[in-house]
Amino acid sequence: MGFVALDSEHMTRELPQLVQNSTCFRCDVCCRFPEADSFLRPYFTSQEIADAVTHGVPESCFPNKSGSQVNLVKSSVGEGYLCPAFDSTSGRCGVYEVRPVDCRLYPLALMWDASGQEVLLGWDTKCPFMREELPATIRVYADYVASLLVSGALVDKIAANPSLIGRFQDDVVVVKRLPQLTARLRSRRVDPRLRPLLVSDAPYFEQAIERSHMRSRHTLAAFAFPYHYMWTSLLPYWWMEADGTLFLFARSPDGWFMPLPPLGPGSLDGAVDHAFTLMHQWNGDLPVSRIEHVMESQKKPFAADGYQFLKAEGDYVYSAAALAVLAGDPHKSQRALCNRVEREHRVEREPYRAEHQRDCMDLHRRWARQKRGGILDVMGKFLLEDAEAAHACVLEEYAQIGVSGTVIRIDHAIEAYTFGYWLTPRTWCVLLEVADRSVPGLAQWVFRDTCRTALAHGAVSINAMEDAGLPGLRAAKLAYRPVAILDTWTITRVAL
Ligand code: SF4
Repeated sequence: MGFVALDSEHMTRELPQLVQNSTCFRCDVCCRFPEADSFLRPYFTSQEIADAVTHGVPESCFPNKSGSQVNLVKSSVGEGYLCPAFDSTSGRCGVYEVRPVDCRLYPLALMWDASGQEVLLGWDTKCPFMREELPATIRVYADYVASLLVSGALVDKIAANPSLIGRFQDDVVVVKRLPQLTARLRSRRVDPRLRPLLVSDAPYFEQAIERSHMRSRHTLAAFAFPYHYMWTSLLPYWWMEADGTLFLFARSPDGWFMPLPPLGPGSLDGAVDHAFTLMHQWNGDLPVSRIEHVMESQKKPFAADGYQFLKAEGDYVYSAAALAVLAGDPHKSQRALCNRVEREHRVEREPYRAEHQRDCMDLHRRWARQKRGGILDVMGKFLLEDAEAAHACVLEEYAQIGVSGTVIRIDHAIEAYTFGYWLTPRTWCVLLEVADRSVPGLAQWVFRDTCRTALAHGAVSINAMEDAGLPGLRAAKLAYRPVAILDTWTITRVAL
């Protein structure tokens, strides 16, 4: 077997290598990926990012410096994509001494079981060595690695970076269950029924929304998976199901709350009572317990006493047809700006693809700098800080979470991008929109283009989401003459 026993100090720092280097150098699987957004890209913790950057990997390869999967680069020698640390000339890892634990583990892999309840250690059949020369001692090796994974610094590292535990893969052969690691991660869960919100939950989440019959002309943008999933790298989101109702919770530094009402087939009364009972158990008397994004139609039949409804920022809804043409005096200034863009530039648009990710992240950083240089209140700055990780998430996982995007080129360079999703078959929701602020009128041109495209695909309404309480954003949204600002409520429980 190709590993040596390590003393206890090293156990937490080193994982023994199962496959000999000479075998790895003959193989062309590791570090190479067929798609730019492959979910198998290695995950780097913040320290591993810092180490990789010190060893020459560009910082821009890491969309989230506090820990993220690496951005791949297009292979210059063939099809597909490469880890940016991979040296295709030598066939070696350029950061081998400081490679991330995700790579050190391979061909073993950490993953959740199919129900998302238990952490498993398995060996990946995608590794040719493991298929063709599986060592007879694999279980001994796995036992040894498992002992390292659940002790000392490594368990802390994994607990602090739960993304190191991937989603269930049926071509990974399970060799061990890791109850200690499961328990450690569960201790972050206050209730064993809670499951982390994963990208693989997208279809199930959408089904729960359908079952709740909440889709209508006045549905809030929050009744969609990407709206919440994009924030999961900043805020842990968890969900559970009880009596056919899906409960989505988020844990802020202040405590637990629900970013969406319970999604069930019946009326809200019983489910809301259950949700507040749970939040009371987890938060105690902290005033953080609340349910956000309650729609007007849900509030009306709500009968239970002891609750308070607080009005919240509502979504701005526009006529797709009106904004596609921007006709008449009310839209004169926006129309003039769109015309200016077309007069002064050659504007081209194309569907977003994974290979645009890096340019879009660069644009996002430039746009954020431009915004910081403008007038922003404390809340605006705070939201801008958080937005980078959310944009990175959408740029990476757009296909799996059901959003589509467009990039806009000015004189061939990407100067804007926009992403959205169909909230209902007749309502397009704008999730993200970024346009270089040094190009006058580009943001207006992008929004009009979004409305035109949505209209051509059957949209009647455009939902541009809420204004987050930012006065500048509110003024900009009002200037487009919304046909409705949806009444939205937050429920809190009154102390009895
Ligand atoms: S960090 Fe090194 S070992 Fe890991 S995928 Fe990149 S090149 Fe391969």
